[in-house]
Amino acid sequence: MSGTPVRFGDPRCTEYDFLDSILVHCPRCDRIARVLRQPHPDVRPLFAPRRLVCRSCGLARTWAGRGIGLGARQRGPAEDPYLRARLWLQRETRHGRLWAYDLRHLDLIRRCAAAGLRERAPWYDTGQKMTLVARLPAWIKSAKNRDEVLRTVDRLRESVLTEG
Ligand SMILES: [Zn+2]
Repeated sequence: MSGTPVRFGDPRCTEYDFLDSILVHCPRCDRIARVLRQPHPDVRPLFAPRRLVCRSCGLARTWAGRGIGLGARQRGPAEDPYLRARLWLQRETRHGRLWAYDLRHLDLIRRCAAAGLRERAPWYDTGQKMTLVARLPAWIKSAKNRDEVLRTVDRLRESVLTEG
C-alpha cells in the first residue's frame, strides 16, 4: 500500500458480508476463537449453521437456531450474532465503540477512516439497503478523529496477529 491518500470507493458491502468467520473471545479460555459458517445446501448463508472453534482449549460449540442479533448493542460488549460470544475486535474510544467481525471488516473501517470519507455513495438515499460504510458512525468517518481511529484499528489488528 502506498502512503498517499486514495479516493475511497464504497465497496457496497454490508454487515452480512463479514459473517463467515467471526473473531471472538473463547467463552471458556478467553483466547481468540472463530465462529465459522458451516456449508449448508438449503439455507441462505446468513442462516447457515455456525460453529465456534477455539484452537487454544479445544472448545467447539454449534449454532443452528433462528435468533440472530445483528449490530452492536448500546450496552455491554459487542457480540457475535450467533453464539453471542464477545467480539475480539472491539475497543472503547472517547467517541464510542469501534468493533468489527473480522480483519476484512476492520480493514474496510480503516480505509474508510484513512480516506476521510466525505462523499456520499449515490445509492445512499435511494432507500436501498444501506451499505456498511454508510452505516458507520459519523465519528469514525470524521477527519478530526482519523488518527485516533487508525491507532485503534492498528492495535486491534496487532492483537489478532500476536495471538497467532
Ligand atoms: Zn478456548
